Amino acid sequence: MHSDVLIVGAGSAGSVLAERLSADSRCHVTVVEAGPGPADPQVLLQVRDGLRLPIGAASSVVRRYPTTLTMSPQRHAQLTRGAVVGGSGAVNGGYFCRGLPTDFDGWTLPGWTWSDVLPHFRAIETDLDFDTPVHGSNGPISVRRVAEFDGCTASFVTAATAAGYPWIPDLNGSTAEDPLPDGVGAVPLNIDGGTRVGPGGAFLQPAMSRANLTVLTSHQAGRILVDKGRAIGVDCVGPNGVVRLTADRIVVCAGAIGSAHLLMLSGIGPEGALRTAGIPVHAALPVGVACADHPEWVLPVNWSASSGVPPLEAVLTTADGLELRPYTAGFGAMVSGRRDDPADRPHIGVTLMRPRSRGRVTVVSADPGVAPVIEHRYDSEPDDVAQLRAGTELAHELVRTTTDVGPVSWSTSQHLCGTAPMGGEDDDTAVVDPQCRVRGVDGLWVIDGSVLPTITSRGPHATIVMIGHRAAEFVSG
Ligand SMILES: Cc1cc2nc3c(=O)[nH]c(=O)nc-3n(C[C@H](O)[C@H](O)[C@H](O)COP(=O)(O)OP(=O)(O)OC[C@H]3O[C@@H](n4cnc5c(N)ncnc54)[C@H](O)[C@@H]3O)c2cc1C
Repeated sequence: MHSDVLIVGAGSAGSVLAERLSADSRCHVTVVEAGPGPADPQVLLQVRDGLRLPIGAASSVVRRYPTTLTMSPQRHAQLTRGAVVGGSGAVNGGYFCRGLPTDFDGWTLPGWTWSDVLPHFRAIETDLDFDTPVHGSNGPISVRRVAEFDGCTASFVTAATAAGYPWIPDLNGSTAEDPLPDGVGAVPLNIDGGTRVGPGGAFLQPAMSRANLTVLTSHQAGRILVDKGRAIGVDCVGPNGVVRLTADRIVVCAGAIGSAHLLMLSGIGPEGALRTAGIPVHAALPVGVACADHPEWVLPVNWSASSGVPPLEAVLTTADGLELRPYTAGFGAMVSGRRDDPADRPHIGVTLMRPRSRGRVTVVSADPGVAPVIEHRYDSEPDDVAQLRAGTELAHELVRTTTDVGPVSWSTSQHLCGTAPMGGEDDDTAVVDPQCRVRGVDGLWVIDGSVLPTITSRGPHATIVMIGHRAAEFVSG
């Protein structure tokens, strides 16, 4: 089967890109997605419920990867990625905060300044709370905030405001001219009346009836075919065996782990690692060598878990780049929806939003069935650890009169990004150019969380959805 554009991965960015490109009925778009689609009612049930994370043992919509969070001592953890139409955006916590104007302006990349990206942030959303020039009113993703808090969130917000932190009514209200101060505010959520409004459901699903769009679910891409320096097709394994798909333009949207893995399996990556894994090299590029995630320290508290609410309703941000998150329940409860296990305590997350540490995703086998090795290396920068410690002290200070705080443990925000970063011509760390084209391979783009040159100061989801929208014109030409 031959297409004008072949998209690998129907995740947060891929869903938006597929909808945008197929809006031109002359453009034949094929999407291959490793996970299932919304035709299965069990899948739909899991991805629509915005009050819980469908990532537990019984989930049929995720893939898990082992990672090492810290090197000394080694602390192991499991990463989860959405493996379903909608990707990780179909299983996440619904926090939909844009990156800050300073994040984008700091990239200094043509086409990616705040004024370049703002129209795309507006186009993807309908903000149901704020109707101002920075907000969208016609986009597919509904955004709203919780107006009244109880339980954990109320305790935390009261403590933070009593300590002098200002209330920020709109955490998506920053502009380059008028940046928001730090303080405590309600999280903009892409959860409306308890339903998760993710990019799979909001963008891709309504477009699936278009005659020029084909979505092949349960198809895992194993290798991009490169001929004389040009990407010409992808070999996939589907329910009926191996399928070879060819296309004029190929866009990898398989997420920070999936895209890096697929590039490396296809001979696009660090030369040494590819050779060790027995993979012939097509383009020596720094794939997966300096990725980033938001490290999180978790502090159990004695507040009683709230019911029937999203996992996270408010956050406190500080000038030195910390985000304190009063989760509304324990991790078990956020996954199961049940609130009856006293050992599953609600917790506060202390998260570093501008970490210096960089991690690695390394291919170790030419077999697509062997997962890459992931190392977060969160403790590789002593300043990061010191900041997390300071954030933990702040959390103790804020809440000590209302709760006991349990022992702290290392965790991750599940925000891995930047495995195929964008960069300018002279940037040796870049895998793709500012138009998301893979360097040294014609006809190949990467458009998803992999391309972030630095991780955003807020959770990445809204930014990655925006990237899918922004970059569509780079592929359509
Ligand atoms: C449990 C969890 C909670 C999170 N909570 C939040 C939050 O509340 N707010 C926030 O800002 N961020 C959150 N994140 C992070 C955020 O959701 C992700 O960063 C974002 O969705 C990534 O988008 P993406 O397009 O890069 O990749 P994804 O959305 O992960 O999409 C990649 C897609 O490609 C498919 N794929 C992968 N490999 C292949 C292959 N070889 N062949 C075919 N298909 C393939 C996958 O199945 C998947 O559907 C969370 C993440 C997780 C996992």
